[in-house]
Amino acid sequence: MAQKGILVVVSGFSGVGKGTLMKRLTEKYEEYALSISATTRQPREGEEDGREYFFRTREAFEQMIAEDALVEYACYCDNYYGTPKAYVEEQMMAGRDVILEIEIQGARKIKEKFPEALLLFVMPPSAAVLKERLVGRGTELPEVIAARLKRAAAEAEGIEAYDYMLVNDQLETCVEEMHTLISCQRSRVNRNLEFINRVKNEVKAF
Ligand code: 5GP
Repeated sequence: MAQKGILVVVSGFSGVGKGTLMKRLTEKYEEYALSISATTRQPREGEEDGREYFFRTREAFEQMIAEDALVEYACYCDNYYGTPKAYVEEQMMAGRDVILEIEIQGARKIKEKFPEALLLFVMPPSAAVLKERLVGRGTELPEVIAARLKRAAAEAEGIEAYDYMLVNDQLETCVEEMHTLISCQRSRVNRNLEFINRVKNEVKAF
């Protein structure tokens, strides 16, 4: 049977460019499975149900919570966001590495449930660049931007719980670093004991 895939959590402040990073990573490396979250927030212009998110009403989201259909969920700036369970389990069992682009409370829950998950935090080159990007993308109202910047300050307090940080300065460099870190996690000795023991036994038989 194929080796079980790993869970990779990618977090970062709003506006740091996680969406673009994920898009590029999964275009370049088709082996990764990107989980699509459910959310109660309104779609932004150009976003499609089932592509960026599963856009759901509050009632429908609470129904998913009641049915235990989410691996984790959190409330972020007055909206629910959560990771549907079925896709994650299916893909991991098929040996694919699953990427969850989620915020920090969700990341903590994932680490509790899956201690072997890899937690990556994407940093902006500077706080000024973060604000510029968030304002520049023009998808949020000024009060939403203000709430998200405030939230960034709170999230910054939780970065120590992550395994690695990456700086999103140059997109391609950041994508490569992310791919390398995931590959390293796959190669950890404690994830490969079955294979190691098999070869060990074969060698002993010489
Ligand atoms: P946005 O509204 O900008 O798409 O996402 C807001 C925040 O919610 C981002 O930090 C994003 O990573 C996070 N997020 C997206 N999906 C999920 C999810 O399924 N669970 C959790 N906990 N956070 C999520």
